[in-house]
Amino acid sequence: MSKIPTLADRLNKARTPSTPEVSDRAKRGLVAYIGAQPDTARATKDLADGTAATGIGRVALSGLSPQGLACADGCAFCCILSGADGGTITEAEAVALHSALAPLAGQPDGRAWHPKACPSLDPETRSCRAYEARPMICRAYVSTDVEACKSVSEGQAVPGPGTLGPYHTYLAAIGLSRAALKGVKRVSTYALAQVAAAAVDGVSLDEALVHARHKPTELDAELKRSKRDISRV
Ligand code: SF4
Ligand code: SF4
Repeated sequence: MSKIPTLADRLNKARTPSTPEVSDRAKRGLVAYIGAQPDTARATKDLADGTAATGIGRVALSGLSPQGLACADGCAFCCILSGADGGTITEAEAVALHSALAPLAGQPDGRAWHPKACPSLDPETRSCRAYEARPMICRAYVSTDVEACKSVSEGQAVPGPGTLGPYHTYLAAIGLSRAALKGVKRVSTYALAQVAAAAVDGVSLDEALVHARHKPTELDAELKRSKRDISRV
């Protein structure tokens, strides 16, 4: 009888299109994460819905103290989204974001301030109305220069704003989770802007997840963009 590989074996064999350093960091984090779970069912669920990847990313972010950032409450050029997608998020993040925004359905949202703004934004205060539930991409995106963020929001490619390293570790962790659970459980990613828009438009969570679910190739594309970004640093 063939040996059924354990989750840790599966993770150790998993590959994802990131740099070796980032991939190794994500793999170590995931193996430690699942080792701390009470059982295989819980560990599998947390890998599948991105709870594990998000946890690793948040812990890594909490250990950083970047200096000289211009970021402040009400400064929201980074919440003007460049495309309809708005960024890659996990299922756990999509569920949390929808839950935070659903009670606000029907109220004016970020799009009343700027047509491309994230629907999570308060159009008056320009604060995130889902701050505690904001996804990893929002937590990791920072800048030392507000004017540079304004230029980026107007479609100019200027240096300055960008994502901190833990975002790349998080992305690699999602890719590794997907590879490790291949044939066991689906690991999906979602479009931030579509989940937020669905929630404030009163669309149910189930429907929101169906419409905002990425094609599997989107994560690969985001991982390749992440690898290019890391290489430029
Ligand atoms: S990333 Fe830029 S726009 Fe966003 S809070 Fe920081 S300085 Fe402001
Ligand atoms: S979820 Fe919040 S922090 Fe993230 S883009 Fe939307 S408004 Fe900005």
